[in-house]
Amino acid sequence: MDARAQCPPEQFHHFWSGIWPEAVRDFSGGGIELQTTDGPGEVRRSPGDKPIFIGLRRGVVNLVLTDHVPGDWDKGRALAGVTTIHEGYHVCMVALRYAHGNQIPFLSVNTCVHELLHALLQDVFVSRPKWFQTGGREFRIDWYATCLWLFHDGAAIRKSARAYLSRLRPAVSAL
Ligand SMILES: [Zn+2]
Repeated sequence: MDARAQCPPEQFHHFWSGIWPEAVRDFSGGGIELQTTDGPGEVRRSPGDKPIFIGLRRGVVNLVLTDHVPGDWDKGRALAGVTTIHEGYHVCMVALRYAHGNQIPFLSVNTCVHELLHALLQDVFVSRPKWFQTGGREFRIDWYATCLWLFHDGAAIRKSARAYLSRLRPAVSAL
């Protein structure tokens, strides 16, 4: 949790009582259990509005909750989230202001599920400019998220997640 985030209490409540439990339920329904720990952190913002993270960990997916995605990553798009590898750390950043639960199949799905799937389906290993602003991978993610949500089908995700974890964990032993 970004200690600097300026969010009204109802946004926290909406996240912790609605969005996150729904994401856990969707993954669990598809046979994917998330092992989570909580920790303090901070997103400082440089003059160019590049994020400087405090509290990230290696070898895990760092789900960073903040109020809005820093300008250098957001580029005026009011993103609900961004998932990327930042200086070797795997980061899913979720902007509480814009985050939402499942809304419309194939089009608007749970923000946490969407962002975590960019990691589990290994989009993070594709260099960003190639896919970051293209619709193809976005649609693919929302497709898989919808299969989890409506059909509890996580077979393809589980397969990719195993490969993802085997690539994620060496980041720890390499230290
Ligand atoms: Zn996306």
